[in-house]
Amino acid sequence: MRTTESALEMPTVVRTLRLMGRTLRLRCPHCGEGRVLAGYDTVRHRCSGCGFRFTRSDDHYFSGAMFFGILLGETLAVLGILAAIWITYPNVPWTGIQFGAPVVMLGVMILLFPASRVIWLAIDVLLRPVQPSELVTDQG
Ligand SMILES: [Zn+2]
Repeated sequence: MRTTESALEMPTVVRTLRLMGRTLRLRCPHCGEGRVLAGYDTVRHRCSGCGFRFTRSDDHYFSGAMFFGILLGETLAVLGILAAIWITYPNVPWTGIQFGAPVVMLGVMILLFPASRVIWLAIDVLLRPVQPSELVTDQG
């Protein structure tokens, strides 16, 4: 069932904090009980707690998660590079940073790939709250 036409809603601070906590634990953004991931690259079909269908639209629903994976990976890598420069200043190993930074960036993005899907789902649920029709526990 396609639900992406459901209305957008302005998130409250309390709701945002609650969803951030559930996202950090990689749990269902709707109820906080069921796990979203079944493995490194597998998202469960439904929440075991509330029956929420995680793929809210078509099979390409999680394509948008790439944006958050890249954003998070790049941010952490840049912070790591800045920390390395700060710690080793004034004898900064520029050659090591030049060749190590791309490796670290790629590694962080691969490591955070599963979390990026949960972040994507949580932001979608934050802005477009779950509708009762999404909680039906059919086999569809
Ligand atoms: Zn749930």
